[in-house]
Amino acid sequence: MNRLALDMPVVGECTVGDCAYNAHHSCQARAITVGAGIHPGCDTFLAATPHSRDAGRHAGVGACKVAACEHNEDYECGAQQIAVGRDGDGACCLTFRRRAPVQPDSRERKRAAD
Ligand code: SF4
Repeated sequence: MNRLALDMPVVGECTVGDCAYNAHHSCQARAITVGAGIHPGCDTFLAATPHSRDAGRHAGVGACKVAACEHNEDYECGAQQIAVGRDGDGACCLTFRRRAPVQPDSRERKRAAD
C-alpha cells in the first residue's frame, strides 16, 4: 500500500457511537468528507455494525463542501481540528461557523440609494 503524508485538520472527537467508523468516541476512518452547501453533515457517517476496530488514530478532514463556513477555503477545512456530533439520524460537524454576510461597499450602497 502506498502511504500519503498530508497536513489536514483532525477529527478530535466524534460522539456518534452508532457510526461504523466510531470506536470510543474517536473516528477511525482515514479521512472524512463533510457536507454540502450550507449543511455541515458528515458524508462518511455509516450506520452499521460491526464497528471499526480501534486503530488508535484520529481521522482527518479530507474535504469539506460547506463554503458557507468561515473555516472553509477553496472547499477545504482550515480549522486545527473539528468535533463531530449527532444530527438527527446522522452526524454533523459541530465546529461549523457560518461565514458573516459580505457587506456591500459604500459605492454600492450609494448606487442603490440613487
Ligand atoms: S469546521 Fe467548517 S470547514 Fe471545517 S469541516 Fe466543519 S463545516 Fe467544514
